[in-house]
Amino acid sequence: MRIDIVSVFPEYFNVLDLSLLGKAQDKGLVEFGIHNLRDWTHDVHHSVDDTPVGGGAGMVMKPEVWAQCLDDLLGIEPLESIEQADAATGRDSSAVLVFPNPSAPTFTQKDATELSHAKHLIFGCGRYEGYDGRLPAYYAAQGYDVREYSIGDYVLNGGEVAVSVMVEATTRLIDGFMGNHASIEEESYTGSEGLLEHRQYTKPATWRGMSVPEVLLSGHHANIDRFRRDEELRRTSALRPDIIEALDCSRLDKKDRKLLTELGWIVNGDHPRSKIGR
Ligand code: SAM
Repeated sequence: MRIDIVSVFPEYFNVLDLSLLGKAQDKGLVEFGIHNLRDWTHDVHHSVDDTPVGGGAGMVMKPEVWAQCLDDLLGIEPLESIEQADAATGRDSSAVLVFPNPSAPTFTQKDATELSHAKHLIFGCGRYEGYDGRLPAYYAAQGYDVREYSIGDYVLNGGEVAVSVMVEATTRLIDGFMGNHASIEEESYTGSEGLLEHRQYTKPATWRGMSVPEVLLSGHHANIDRFRRDEELRRTSALRPDIIEALDCSRLDKKDRKLLTELGWIVNGDHPRSKIGR
């Protein structure tokens, strides 16, 4: 996978050389291009922003500088105007353009999984009040897969941290990235159900007077699986009832149904419903 990242603070991404991502680069699984947006400016101050049209606080990132950069990374000629976009549709659009934006849908494990199948990802880090609103639409009109994602309901100073989060969540799903593939199949938000994972414990079995759950020491795999499954259902019911509401009732076994009923769910029909309503 090729990943290009554009930022006015490219040094932020030195972190990508560390740990598993560094190893993935050594193995040739992922290749990064880190670019300074200011390299596409033509004025003496290398300015990438301008005042907001319509007034208001702060500065907005100029579409022209961004477009020159993204056109270069995509290897395309600029359009004279958006009216030409239809004619351009269909050019090699294997690249996915991703813009972090706090007012966009939240980035999830499902999005990370989708992005992990892309050949080429281009991330554009916003700063100031963000990038000009025409930018995503301009590339979407040319047939590119353009995505805007928030990483949570708070505002950061820039897109660099958000892009680091998305890159890490995405690249660890690439085949060969993790030594043991099972470790990414058995995680929270993963699989068809997306339940929160059960708690994990390691040795010693008793630490500062606290013991791990007895069943985990039993060696009885079926009981251990059941214990973990119950804990996943309990944790998800308490912390993320929206995930329980999305479960497919027909795929729940007798013990799942019994536990969910005890936890206050009505388990019939297509999906569980809370007895008390939400
Ligand atoms: N004016 C914007 C708003 O109120 O929605 C906030 C702009 S923020 C200061 C500057 C840039 O940081 C954004 O363009 C985006 O790239 C990034 N950013 C900030 N918070 C983010 C979040 N929660 N998720 C993703 N990106 C974020």
